[in-house]
Amino acid sequence: MTTWHKLRKRIHLLCVLIFIALPFFNFMRFDIPRERFYFFGKELWINEFAIIFFALMFLMFVIVLSSVFYGRIYCGYLCPQMIFSEASDAIDAWFRKRITKRFPTLKPPARARIARVLWLAVVGAGSVFLAFIFISYFVEPRDLLRRLASLDLHTAGGISGAAVTLVTFLDFTLVKQKFCTTVCPYGYLQGLLGDDRTLLVHYRDPGEECIDCKKCVRVCPMGIDIRTSPFQIECIHCADCIDACGDIMARLKKPNLIRYGWGVKGEPWRWTGRRVVVAAILLAYAGGLTFALTTRRPVLVRISPVRETLYRKGDDGRIYNRFRYQVANRGAQPDTVAFSIRNLPGAQLVSSANPVRVEAGKQVTGEFEIARPVSPGEALVTHFEIAAGSDRFPMTFLAPSGDPK
Ligand code: SF4
Ligand code: SF4
Repeated sequence: MTTWHKLRKRIHLLCVLIFIALPFFNFMRFDIPRERFYFFGKELWINEFAIIFFALMFLMFVIVLSSVFYGRIYCGYLCPQMIFSEASDAIDAWFRKRITKRFPTLKPPARARIARVLWLAVVGAGSVFLAFIFISYFVEPRDLLRRLASLDLHTAGGISGAAVTLVTFLDFTLVKQKFCTTVCPYGYLQGLLGDDRTLLVHYRDPGEECIDCKKCVRVCPMGIDIRTSPFQIECIHCADCIDACGDIMARLKKPNLIRYGWGVKGEPWRWTGRRVVVAAILLAYAGGLTFALTTRRPVLVRISPVRETLYRKGDDGRIYNRFRYQVANRGAQPDTVAFSIRNLPGAQLVSSANPVRVEAGKQVTGEFEIARPVSPGEALVTHFEIAAGSDRFPMTFLAPSGDPK
């Protein structure tokens, strides 16, 4: 029979693989030096605020909705802090066992010291690796690897790498599950998010069959006794106590006294007002994200007039107005943008580069002028449009008051 513990460990392994893969394949990464946000292979620019906002809110509400339905499942099954804390404990226990077996003649304190040194060495190496993966979410992993290979501890990347490694090491040697009950707000939030049908781990013993073996307490990674209450802030719904009691009671041919259940009464799952509201918000963010992604345009053009001088009179007698453009290619292919003039008779666009070619992921800025002959008595300000691809930009052409001569 697959126990909850085995299932949880398999999910932990999957989560670790996903945690490692996400930055390498740009599934989710916030590149600080390049000011890019990567989301499921899409490269988003930092100024694409709507998409980043919807993506973050969508992910947050996925966790909120899972908390309303399934309680602390995130903590027990998916949270990196819990996964690595438990891994650290498991490595510690494994070394103690192996050293005891291998050196039976050594005194217990000496065996404990050897096991501790080996455990610290493994957690130290693991901390370097985890810090590397963590920073890869913010700095391109290959670039980071190059810096690490050259033992770069001077730049911001090197200093933050060393700092994150130290924090990770201290976290997984000293803090571990204490983080969940002291620093992390999620456990406290769960009290607000859950309703009377949220999934719980609870102990029910109407026949008073508990033999008080305390195995459920000994296996609990949070060190609590589930028999006292199903609402303890420390409980991460990992179900290790369910496995423990099931194992003991099976030997006595009695039913398990601890189980997962929908709320304390074990009533069937159903939609409640709170669930509908949270699901509706999640759907709204999912809709917003889909809309923002599908209407996203890879090439973004901005044009503004240069008004340090309102106009200049050329040697050819024409009046010149200067404009500044910025073309950002947020797509994966090179692109070109051609500028043209609409609704300004006799005008000519004077530019050293038109159309403008922009490589993928790059931004180009430049200036061009619009020249036109202005007859006496013509308007001081003429409204017209500059076209750039399918975009139209309303602009004004300024000329001297009535007479350019
Ligand atoms: S009480 Fe049970 S479900 Fe809760 S943390 Fe402890 S072992 Fe896990
Ligand atoms: S493991 Fe089961 S029988 Fe043993 S103390 Fe816990 S609830 Fe009672």
